[in-house]
Amino acid sequence: MSWEVVIGLEIHTQLATQSKIFSGASTAYGAEPNTQACLVDLGYPGVLPVLNEDVVRMAAMFGLAVNASVAPRSVFARKNYFYPDLPKGYQISQYELPIVEHGELFITAADGNEKRIGITRAHLEEDAGKSTHEGLGSFSGIDLNRAGTPLLEIVSEPDLRSAKEAVAYMRKIHSIVRYLGISDGNMQEGSFRCDANVSMRPRGQQEFGTRTELKNLNSFRFVEKAINFEIERQIDVIEDGGEVVQETRLYDANKDETRPMRSKEEANDYRYFPDPDLLPVEIDAAYVEALRETLPELPDAKRHRFIDDYGIRADDADILTASRALGDFYEEVVAATAGEPQGVANFVVGDFMGALNKAGLGIEESPVSAAALAGLLDRIKDQTISGKIAKEVFEAMWSGEGSADEIIAAKGLKQITDSSAIEAIVDKVIEANPGQVAEYKAGKEKLIGYFVGQVMKETGGKANPGQVNQVLKQKLS
Ligand code: ADP
Ligand code: MG
Repeated sequence: MSWEVVIGLEIHTQLATQSKIFSGASTAYGAEPNTQACLVDLGYPGVLPVLNEDVVRMAAMFGLAVNASVAPRSVFARKNYFYPDLPKGYQISQYELPIVEHGELFITAADGNEKRIGITRAHLEEDAGKSTHEGLGSFSGIDLNRAGTPLLEIVSEPDLRSAKEAVAYMRKIHSIVRYLGISDGNMQEGSFRCDANVSMRPRGQQEFGTRTELKNLNSFRFVEKAINFEIERQIDVIEDGGEVVQETRLYDANKDETRPMRSKEEANDYRYFPDPDLLPVEIDAAYVEALRETLPELPDAKRHRFIDDYGIRADDADILTASRALGDFYEEVVAATAGEPQGVANFVVGDFMGALNKAGLGIEESPVSAAALAGLLDRIKDQTISGKIAKEVFEAMWSGEGSADEIIAAKGLKQITDSSAIEAIVDKVIEANPGQVAEYKAGKEKLIGYFVGQVMKETGGKANPGQVNQVLKQKLS
Protein backbone atom coordinates (compact mmCIF):
# COMPACT_ATOMS: atom_id res chain seq x y z
CA MET A 1 0.00 0.00 0.00
CA SER A 2 1.30 3.44 -0.88
CA TRP A 3 0.46 6.27 1.52
CA GLU A 4 0.03 9.97 0.99
CA VAL A 5 0.46 12.55 3.73
CA VAL A 6 -1.89 15.53 4.07
CA ILE A 7 -0.62 18.53 6.04
CA GLY A 8 -2.09 21.87 7.08
CA LEU A 9 -0.15 24.44 9.10
CA GLU A 10 -1.26 26.98 11.68
CA ILE A 11 1.50 29.58 11.97
CA HIS A 12 1.67 32.05 14.85
CA THR A 13 3.61 35.12 13.95
CA GLN A 14 4.24 37.88 16.46
CA LEU A 15 3.44 41.32 15.07
CA ALA A 16 6.19 43.91 15.38
CA THR A 17 4.31 46.54 17.38
CA GLN A 18 5.85 48.65 20.16
CA SER A 19 3.02 47.95 22.56
CA LYS A 20 0.60 45.10 23.14
CA ILE A 21 -2.55 44.38 21.19
CA PHE A 22 -4.96 45.69 23.85
CA SER A 23 -2.74 47.63 26.26
CA GLY A 24 0.09 50.15 26.34
CA ALA A 25 2.65 47.76 27.89
CA SER A 26 5.87 47.22 25.95
CA THR A 27 6.41 44.14 23.82
CA ALA A 28 10.24 44.33 23.98
CA TYR A 29 11.82 40.91 24.40
CA GLY A 30 13.94 39.78 27.32
CA ALA A 31 12.86 42.10 30.17
CA GLU A 32 12.77 40.98 33.82
CA PRO A 33 9.68 38.82 34.44
CA ASN A 34 6.43 40.72 35.01
CA THR A 35 7.90 44.18 34.39
CA GLN A 36 5.94 44.56 31.15
CA ALA A 37 2.47 43.48 32.19
CA CYS A 38 -0.08 46.15 33.01
CA LEU A 39 -3.48 45.77 34.64
CA VAL A 40 -5.12 44.93 31.30
CA ASP A 41 -2.64 42.10 30.68
CA LEU A 42 -3.15 40.87 34.24
CA GLY A 43 -6.90 40.74 33.68
CA TYR A 44 -7.90 42.96 36.58
CA PRO A 45 -11.62 43.51 37.02
CA GLY A 46 -12.90 46.79 35.64
CA VAL A 47 -10.15 47.38 33.09
CA LEU A 48 -10.97 47.55 29.39
CA PRO A 49 -8.95 46.49 26.34
CA VAL A 50 -8.27 49.09 23.64
CA LEU A 51 -7.30 47.81 20.20
CA ASN A 52 -3.84 48.77 18.90
CA GLU A 53 -4.49 50.29 15.46
CA ASP A 54 -1.15 49.06 14.15
CA VAL A 55 -2.16 45.39 14.34
CA VAL A 56 -5.10 46.08 12.05
CA ARG A 57 -2.80 47.69 9.50
CA MET A 58 -0.33 44.79 9.73
CA ALA A 59 -2.96 42.09 9.37
CA ALA A 60 -4.49 43.88 6.39
CA MET A 61 -1.05 44.19 4.75
CA PHE A 62 -0.56 40.47 5.15
CA GLY A 63 -3.97 39.84 3.59
CA LEU A 64 -3.07 41.94 0.56
CA ALA A 65 0.32 40.25 0.23
CA VAL A 66 -1.27 36.79 -0.04
CA ASN A 67 -4.04 37.87 -2.37
CA ALA A 68 -6.70 37.37 0.31
CA SER A 69 -9.80 39.34 1.12
CA VAL A 70 -9.52 41.79 3.98
CA ALA A 71 -12.81 41.62 5.85
CA PRO A 72 -14.76 44.89 5.98
CA ARG A 73 -15.94 43.73 9.40
CA SER A 74 -14.23 41.34 11.79
CA VAL A 75 -15.04 40.49 15.38
CA PHE A 76 -12.98 39.64 18.47
CA ALA A 77 -14.16 36.64 20.44
CA ARG A 78 -13.34 35.18 23.83
CA LYS A 79 -11.80 31.72 23.80
CA ASN A 80 -12.40 30.42 27.31
CA TYR A 81 -10.06 28.05 29.10
CA PHE A 82 -8.23 27.83 32.39
CA TYR A 83 -4.46 27.93 32.61
CA PRO A 84 -2.13 29.64 35.11
CA ASP A 85 -0.53 31.79 32.40
CA LEU A 86 -3.93 33.19 31.35
CA PRO A 87 -5.17 35.33 34.25
CA LYS A 88 -8.38 36.49 32.55
CA GLY A 89 -9.57 32.91 32.02
CA TYR A 90 -9.99 33.61 28.32
CA GLN A 91 -7.85 34.55 25.37
CA ILE A 92 -9.08 37.28 23.03
CA SER A 93 -8.98 35.93 19.49
CA GLN A 94 -11.10 36.01 16.35
CA TYR A 95 -13.36 33.12 15.51
CA GLU A 96 -16.28 33.30 13.11
CA LEU A 97 -15.27 36.59 11.50
CA PRO A 98 -11.49 36.77 11.05
CA ILE A 99 -9.79 39.81 9.53
CA VAL A 100 -8.26 37.91 6.57
CA GLU A 101 -9.72 35.05 4.48
CA HIS A 102 -9.19 33.12 1.23
CA GLY A 103 -5.53 33.80 0.44
CA GLU A 104 -2.87 31.88 -1.40
CA LEU A 105 0.83 31.65 -2.00
CA PHE A 106 3.16 29.65 -4.22
CA ILE A 107 5.98 27.32 -3.29
CA THR A 108 8.51 25.53 -5.47
CA ALA A 109 7.51 21.85 -5.34
CA ALA A 110 9.93 18.89 -5.62
CA ASP A 111 9.44 18.70 -9.41
CA GLY A 112 10.60 22.33 -9.70
CA ASN A 113 7.13 23.61 -10.60
CA GLU A 114 5.21 26.23 -8.68
CA LYS A 115 2.49 24.87 -6.44
CA ARG A 116 -0.40 26.90 -5.04
CA ILE A 117 -1.13 26.58 -1.32
CA GLY A 118 -4.43 28.00 -0.08
CA ILE A 119 -4.57 30.17 3.01
CA THR A 120 -7.87 29.60 4.76
CA ARG A 121 -7.70 32.57 7.11
CA ALA A 122 -5.50 34.76 9.25
CA HIS A 123 -6.83 36.12 12.51
CA LEU A 124 -5.62 38.43 15.24
CA GLU A 125 -5.21 37.28 18.81
CA GLU A 126 -3.27 37.89 21.99
CA ASP A 127 -0.51 35.63 23.25
CA ALA A 128 -0.64 34.07 26.74
CA GLY A 129 2.03 34.33 29.45
CA LYS A 130 4.70 31.78 30.17
CA SER A 131 5.25 29.28 33.00
CA THR A 132 8.84 28.82 34.20
CA HIS A 133 10.15 25.99 36.32
CA GLU A 134 13.89 26.50 36.33
CA GLY A 135 15.57 27.40 39.61
CA LEU A 136 12.29 27.66 41.53
CA GLY A 137 12.47 24.41 43.51
CA SER A 138 9.02 22.93 43.97
CA PHE A 139 7.33 26.09 42.71
CA SER A 140 6.41 27.25 39.24
CA GLY A 141 6.79 30.85 38.14
CA ILE A 142 4.48 32.80 35.88
CA ASP A 143 5.89 35.51 33.62
CA LEU A 144 3.17 37.65 32.11
CA ASN A 145 5.42 39.85 29.96
CA ARG A 146 4.30 37.96 26.90
CA ALA A 147 0.58 38.10 27.82
CA GLY A 148 -1.21 40.38 25.37
CA THR A 149 1.53 40.30 22.73
CA PRO A 150 -0.13 40.61 19.31
CA LEU A 151 -0.19 37.50 17.15
CA LEU A 152 -1.42 36.84 13.65
CA GLU A 153 -2.44 33.19 13.32
CA ILE A 154 -2.20 32.09 9.69
CA VAL A 155 -4.09 28.89 8.83
CA SER A 156 -3.35 27.00 5.63
CA GLU A 157 -5.62 24.72 3.67
CA PRO A 158 -4.64 21.03 3.93
CA ASP A 159 -2.77 21.40 0.62
CA LEU A 160 0.72 20.33 1.66
CA ARG A 161 1.88 16.83 0.66
CA SER A 162 5.30 16.37 2.25
CA ALA A 163 7.41 17.66 5.12
CA LYS A 164 9.54 19.50 2.55
CA GLU A 165 6.48 21.28 1.13
CA ALA A 166 5.45 22.24 4.66
CA VAL A 167 8.87 23.77 5.27
CA ALA A 168 8.82 25.56 1.90
CA TYR A 169 5.40 27.02 2.78
CA MET A 170 6.56 28.09 6.24
CA ARG A 171 9.69 29.69 4.76
CA LYS A 172 7.56 31.59 2.26
CA ILE A 173 5.29 32.94 5.01
CA HIS A 174 8.40 33.82 7.01
CA SER A 175 9.81 35.77 4.03
CA ILE A 176 6.53 37.57 3.42
CA VAL A 177 6.03 38.81 6.99
CA ARG A 178 9.62 40.02 7.11
CA TYR A 179 9.42 41.74 3.70
CA LEU A 180 6.30 43.50 4.95
CA GLY A 181 8.08 44.47 8.16
CA ILE A 182 5.13 43.21 10.21
CA SER A 183 7.18 40.65 12.19
CA ASP A 184 10.84 40.12 12.99
CA GLY A 185 10.22 36.39 12.48
CA ASN A 186 12.72 35.59 15.25
CA MET A 187 12.21 31.90 15.92
CA GLN A 188 14.55 31.63 18.93
CA GLU A 189 12.49 34.29 20.69
CA GLY A 190 9.24 32.53 19.76
CA SER A 191 8.07 35.25 17.35
CA PHE A 192 7.40 32.68 14.63
CA ARG A 193 6.18 29.17 15.44
CA CYS A 194 3.78 26.65 14.03
CA ASP A 195 1.41 23.77 14.71
CA ALA A 196 1.40 21.07 12.03
CA ASN A 197 -1.73 19.00 11.36
CA VAL A 198 -0.80 15.67 9.82
CA SER A 199 -2.89 12.78 8.45
CA MET A 200 -2.33 9.84 6.10
CA ARG A 201 -4.52 8.36 3.39
CA PRO A 202 -4.03 5.62 0.80
CA ARG A 203 -2.69 7.26 -2.37
CA GLY A 204 -5.62 7.95 -4.70
CA GLN A 205 -8.24 8.22 -1.92
CA GLN A 206 -10.25 11.46 -1.79
CA GLU A 207 -11.26 11.64 1.89
CA PHE A 208 -8.75 12.75 4.47
CA GLY A 209 -7.62 10.45 7.25
CA THR A 210 -7.72 11.27 10.97
CA ARG A 211 -5.17 13.96 11.84
CA THR A 212 -2.92 14.68 14.76
CA GLU A 213 -1.73 18.17 15.62
CA LEU A 214 1.97 18.70 16.40
CA LYS A 215 2.23 21.71 18.68
CA ASN A 216 4.65 24.60 18.90
CA LEU A 217 7.37 23.77 16.39
CA ASN A 218 9.85 26.63 16.50
CA SER A 219 12.39 25.86 13.78
CA PHE A 220 12.22 24.82 10.14
CA ARG A 221 14.32 21.76 10.95
CA PHE A 222 11.96 20.64 13.73
CA VAL A 223 8.93 21.06 11.46
CA GLU A 224 10.52 18.75 8.91
CA LYS A 225 11.69 16.19 11.46
CA ALA A 226 8.46 16.17 13.48
CA ILE A 227 6.31 15.66 10.38
CA ASN A 228 8.56 12.91 9.04
CA PHE A 229 8.47 11.13 12.38
CA GLU A 230 4.68 11.47 12.49
CA ILE A 231 4.30 10.08 8.94
CA GLU A 232 6.22 6.93 9.89
CA ARG A 233 4.37 6.59 13.17
CA GLN A 234 0.91 6.88 11.58
CA ILE A 235 1.78 4.42 8.81
CA ASP A 236 2.97 1.93 11.45
CA VAL A 237 -0.24 2.36 13.46
CA ILE A 238 -2.44 1.81 10.39
CA GLU A 239 -0.43 -1.09 8.95
CA ASP A 240 -0.48 -2.82 12.35
CA GLY A 241 -4.29 -2.78 12.09
CA GLY A 242 -4.80 0.14 14.48
CA GLU A 243 -6.39 3.55 14.04
CA VAL A 244 -4.82 6.97 14.31
CA VAL A 245 -6.37 8.83 17.24
CA GLN A 246 -7.17 12.50 16.80
CA GLU A 247 -4.95 14.15 19.38
CA THR A 248 -2.46 16.89 20.09
CA ARG A 249 1.17 15.75 20.23
CA LEU A 250 4.42 17.38 21.27
CA TYR A 251 7.69 16.99 19.39
CA ASP A 252 10.72 16.14 21.54
CA ALA A 253 13.80 17.32 19.66
CA ASN A 254 16.21 15.41 21.92
CA LYS A 255 14.54 12.09 21.23
CA ASP A 256 13.34 13.05 17.71
CA GLU A 257 9.84 11.74 18.37
CA THR A 258 6.32 13.02 18.98
CA ARG A 259 4.35 12.18 22.14
CA PRO A 260 0.66 12.57 22.96
CA MET A 261 -0.24 15.73 24.87
CA ARG A 262 -4.04 15.59 24.95
CA SER A 263 -6.68 13.65 23.07
CA LYS A 264 -9.84 14.95 21.42
CA GLU A 265 -11.92 13.78 24.39
CA GLU A 266 -9.86 15.95 26.68
CA ALA A 267 -9.96 18.86 24.25
CA ASN A 268 -11.40 22.03 25.66
CA ASP A 269 -14.79 23.33 24.76
CA TYR A 270 -13.78 26.94 24.37
CA ARG A 271 -17.29 28.43 24.50
CA TYR A 272 -16.37 31.14 22.03
CA PHE A 273 -18.52 34.26 22.11
CA PRO A 274 -18.02 37.83 20.83
CA ASP A 275 -16.05 39.91 23.32
CA PRO A 276 -18.47 42.53 24.65
CA ASP A 277 -15.56 44.80 25.65
CA LEU A 278 -14.42 45.36 22.06
CA LEU A 279 -16.10 46.89 19.05
CA PRO A 280 -16.08 45.05 15.73
CA VAL A 281 -13.19 46.10 13.48
CA GLU A 282 -14.51 47.96 10.45
CA ILE A 283 -12.20 48.62 7.53
CA ASP A 284 -13.28 50.58 4.48
CA ALA A 285 -12.14 49.98 0.91
CA ALA A 286 -10.26 53.30 0.72
CA TYR A 287 -8.09 52.28 3.68
CA VAL A 288 -7.28 48.95 2.03
CA GLU A 289 -6.46 50.58 -1.30
CA ALA A 290 -4.21 53.17 0.33
CA LEU A 291 -2.43 50.34 2.12
CA ARG A 292 -1.98 48.44 -1.10
CA GLU A 293 0.07 51.37 -2.40
CA THR A 294 2.53 50.97 0.46
CA LEU A 295 3.33 47.29 -0.19
CA PRO A 296 6.97 46.59 -1.05
CA GLU A 297 7.99 44.25 -3.87
CA LEU A 298 7.28 40.78 -2.46
CA PRO A 299 9.43 37.62 -2.62
CA ASP A 300 7.67 36.02 -5.62
CA ALA A 301 7.74 39.18 -7.71
CA LYS A 302 11.38 39.73 -6.85
CA ARG A 303 12.18 36.10 -7.67
CA HIS A 304 10.58 36.36 -11.10
CA ARG A 305 12.35 39.64 -11.75
CA PHE A 306 15.73 38.15 -10.81
CA ILE A 307 15.17 35.24 -13.19
CA ASP A 308 13.96 37.49 -16.03
CA ASP A 309 16.33 40.45 -15.64
CA TYR A 310 19.51 38.75 -14.53
CA GLY A 311 18.98 35.37 -16.18
CA ILE A 312 20.00 33.51 -13.01
CA ARG A 313 18.93 29.98 -12.08
CA ALA A 314 15.57 29.56 -10.31
CA ASP A 315 17.10 27.84 -7.27
CA ASP A 316 19.53 30.74 -6.78
CA ALA A 317 16.69 33.22 -7.22
CA ASP A 318 14.77 31.35 -4.47
CA ILE A 319 17.64 31.69 -2.05
CA LEU A 320 18.54 35.28 -2.95
CA THR A 321 14.98 36.53 -2.45
CA ALA A 322 14.32 34.75 0.85
CA SER A 323 15.08 38.01 2.63
CA ARG A 324 14.85 41.56 1.41
CA ALA A 325 18.32 42.37 2.76
CA LEU A 326 19.92 39.53 0.81
CA GLY A 327 18.12 40.48 -2.41
CA ASP A 328 19.23 44.10 -1.98
CA PHE A 329 22.80 43.00 -1.31
CA TYR A 330 22.83 40.85 -4.45
CA GLU A 331 21.50 43.69 -6.59
CA GLU A 332 24.06 46.10 -5.15
CA VAL A 333 26.89 43.74 -6.07
CA VAL A 334 25.51 43.15 -9.58
CA ALA A 335 25.21 46.91 -10.14
CA ALA A 336 28.77 47.54 -8.98
CA THR A 337 30.66 44.77 -10.75
CA ALA A 338 31.46 44.00 -14.37
CA GLY A 339 31.02 40.29 -13.49
CA GLU A 340 28.10 38.28 -14.86
CA PRO A 341 24.93 38.12 -12.67
CA GLN A 342 25.05 34.30 -12.52
CA GLY A 343 28.69 34.43 -11.41
CA VAL A 344 27.71 36.94 -8.72
CA ALA A 345 24.86 34.65 -7.64
CA ASN A 346 27.24 31.68 -7.39
CA PHE A 347 29.64 33.63 -5.21
CA VAL A 348 26.97 35.18 -2.99
CA VAL A 349 25.04 31.93 -2.45
CA GLY A 350 28.24 29.89 -2.07
CA ASP A 351 31.26 31.54 -0.45
CA PHE A 352 29.56 34.64 0.93
CA MET A 353 26.51 33.00 2.57
CA GLY A 354 28.70 30.10 3.66
CA ALA A 355 30.93 32.53 5.54
CA LEU A 356 27.95 34.32 7.09
CA ASN A 357 26.43 31.04 8.28
CA LYS A 358 29.70 29.78 9.64
CA ALA A 359 30.19 32.98 11.61
CA GLY A 360 26.52 33.05 12.64
CA LEU A 361 26.16 36.58 11.28
CA GLY A 362 23.24 38.37 9.64
CA ILE A 363 23.86 40.08 6.33
CA GLU A 364 23.86 43.51 7.99
CA GLU A 365 26.83 42.38 10.08
CA SER A 366 28.91 41.14 7.16
CA PRO A 367 32.54 42.30 7.32
CA VAL A 368 32.59 42.32 3.50
CA SER A 369 30.38 45.01 1.93
CA ALA A 370 28.62 44.73 -1.43
CA ALA A 371 31.08 47.22 -2.93
CA ALA A 372 34.08 45.29 -1.62
CA LEU A 373 32.71 42.01 -3.00
CA ALA A 374 32.10 43.69 -6.37
CA GLY A 375 35.77 44.71 -6.33
CA LEU A 376 36.76 41.07 -5.96
CA LEU A 377 34.42 39.82 -8.69
CA ASP A 378 35.82 42.47 -11.06
CA ARG A 379 39.25 40.89 -10.69
CA ILE A 380 37.87 37.49 -11.71
CA LYS A 381 36.12 39.08 -14.66
CA ASP A 382 39.26 40.85 -15.94
CA GLN A 383 41.28 37.67 -15.32
CA THR A 384 43.60 39.21 -12.75
CA ILE A 385 42.84 36.15 -10.59
CA SER A 386 41.16 32.79 -11.15
CA GLY A 387 37.97 31.72 -9.42
CA LYS A 388 40.04 29.48 -7.18
CA ILE A 389 42.38 32.22 -6.02
CA ALA A 390 39.29 34.42 -5.51
CA LYS A 391 38.25 32.14 -2.65
CA GLU A 392 41.59 32.77 -0.96
CA VAL A 393 41.28 36.53 -1.49
CA PHE A 394 37.73 36.44 -0.15
CA GLU A 395 38.86 34.72 3.04
CA ALA A 396 41.48 37.40 3.57
CA MET A 397 38.88 40.12 2.94
CA TRP A 398 36.61 38.43 5.47
CA SER A 399 39.32 38.58 8.11
CA GLY A 400 39.83 42.28 7.46
CA GLU A 401 43.08 42.23 5.48
CA GLY A 402 41.91 44.92 3.07
CA SER A 403 40.33 45.26 -0.35
CA ALA A 404 40.65 42.65 -3.08
CA ASP A 405 43.27 44.72 -4.92
CA GLU A 406 45.30 45.29 -1.75
CA ILE A 407 45.29 41.58 -0.90
CA ILE A 408 46.15 40.49 -4.45
CA ALA A 409 49.11 42.90 -4.46
CA ALA A 410 50.29 42.11 -0.93
CA LYS A 411 50.16 38.34 -1.42
CA GLY A 412 51.37 38.39 -5.02
CA LEU A 413 48.30 36.51 -6.21
CA LYS A 414 48.01 38.12 -9.62
CA GLN A 415 47.29 35.51 -12.21
CA ILE A 416 50.09 34.72 -14.69
CA THR A 417 48.69 35.43 -18.14
CA ASP A 418 52.02 36.30 -19.77
CA SER A 419 52.27 33.54 -22.38
CA SER A 420 56.07 33.44 -22.48
CA ALA A 421 56.12 32.97 -18.68
CA ILE A 422 53.55 30.17 -18.96
CA GLU A 423 55.45 28.53 -21.80
CA ALA A 424 58.65 28.54 -19.76
CA ILE A 425 56.95 26.75 -16.88
CA VAL A 426 55.26 24.29 -19.23
CA ASP A 427 58.64 23.48 -20.78
CA LYS A 428 60.09 22.90 -17.35
CA VAL A 429 57.27 20.53 -16.39
CA ILE A 430 57.56 18.58 -19.65
CA GLU A 431 61.29 18.21 -19.14
CA ALA A 432 60.88 16.98 -15.60
CA ASN A 433 58.32 14.28 -16.54
CA PRO A 434 59.64 12.30 -19.51
CA GLY A 435 57.77 9.13 -18.49
CA GLN A 436 54.36 10.83 -18.38
CA VAL A 437 55.10 12.61 -21.65
CA ALA A 438 55.76 9.29 -23.37
CA GLU A 439 52.54 7.80 -21.96
CA TYR A 440 50.57 10.85 -23.05
CA LYS A 441 51.97 10.63 -26.55
CA ALA A 442 51.09 6.93 -26.59
CA GLY A 443 47.46 7.90 -26.16
CA LYS A 444 46.86 8.32 -22.42
CA GLU A 445 45.31 11.75 -22.94
CA LYS A 446 43.78 12.10 -19.55
CA LEU A 447 47.30 12.73 -18.25
CA ILE A 448 46.68 16.34 -19.33
CA GLY A 449 45.15 16.86 -15.90
CA TYR A 450 48.38 15.75 -14.29
CA PHE A 451 50.42 18.26 -16.31
CA VAL A 452 47.99 21.09 -15.55
CA GLY A 453 48.30 20.20 -11.88
CA GLN A 454 52.11 20.33 -12.07
CA VAL A 455 52.07 23.75 -13.73
CA MET A 456 49.63 25.03 -11.12
CA LYS A 457 51.87 23.70 -8.37
CA GLU A 458 54.86 25.49 -9.88
CA THR A 459 52.92 28.76 -10.00
CA GLY A 460 51.12 28.51 -6.68
CA GLY A 461 47.81 28.19 -8.54
CA LYS A 462 48.32 31.51 -10.26
CA ALA A 463 48.64 30.50 -13.91
CA ASN A 464 45.58 31.13 -16.06
CA PRO A 465 44.08 27.61 -16.37
CA GLY A 466 42.73 28.15 -19.89
CA GLN A 467 46.09 29.28 -21.19
CA VAL A 468 47.94 26.47 -19.42
CA ASN A 469 45.70 23.90 -21.10
CA GLN A 470 46.20 25.43 -24.49
CA VAL A 471 50.00 25.70 -24.25
CA LEU A 472 50.33 22.17 -22.84
CA LYS A 473 48.27 20.61 -25.63
CA GLN A 474 50.23 22.49 -28.22
CA LYS A 475 53.63 21.50 -26.79
CA LEU A 476 52.68 17.87 -26.22
CA SER A 477 51.24 17.25 -29.65
P1 ADP B 1 -9.05 23.30 14.43
O1 ADP B 1 -9.96 24.46 14.56
O2 ADP B 1 -9.46 22.12 15.20
O3 ADP B 1 -7.63 23.64 14.67
P2 ADP B 1 -9.28 23.47 11.54
O4 ADP B 1 -10.33 22.80 10.76
O5 ADP B 1 -9.33 24.93 11.68
O6 ADP B 1 -9.20 22.78 12.94
O7 ADP B 1 -7.91 23.07 10.89
C1 ADP B 1 -6.69 23.41 11.44
C2 ADP B 1 -5.61 23.01 10.45
O8 ADP B 1 -5.66 21.61 10.19
C3 ADP B 1 -5.73 23.67 9.08
O9 ADP B 1 -4.44 24.12 8.70
C4 ADP B 1 -6.23 22.58 8.17
O10 ADP B 1 -5.71 22.74 6.87
C5 ADP B 1 -5.63 21.35 8.81
N1 ADP B 1 -6.37 20.11 8.57
C6 ADP B 1 -7.70 19.91 8.69
N2 ADP B 1 -8.02 18.62 8.45
C7 ADP B 1 -6.84 17.96 8.18
C8 ADP B 1 -6.50 16.61 7.89
N3 ADP B 1 -7.40 15.66 7.81
N4 ADP B 1 -5.19 16.33 7.69
C9 ADP B 1 -4.25 17.29 7.79
N5 ADP B 1 -4.51 18.56 8.08
C10 ADP B 1 -5.80 18.92 8.28
MG1 MG C 1 -5.96 24.17 15.72
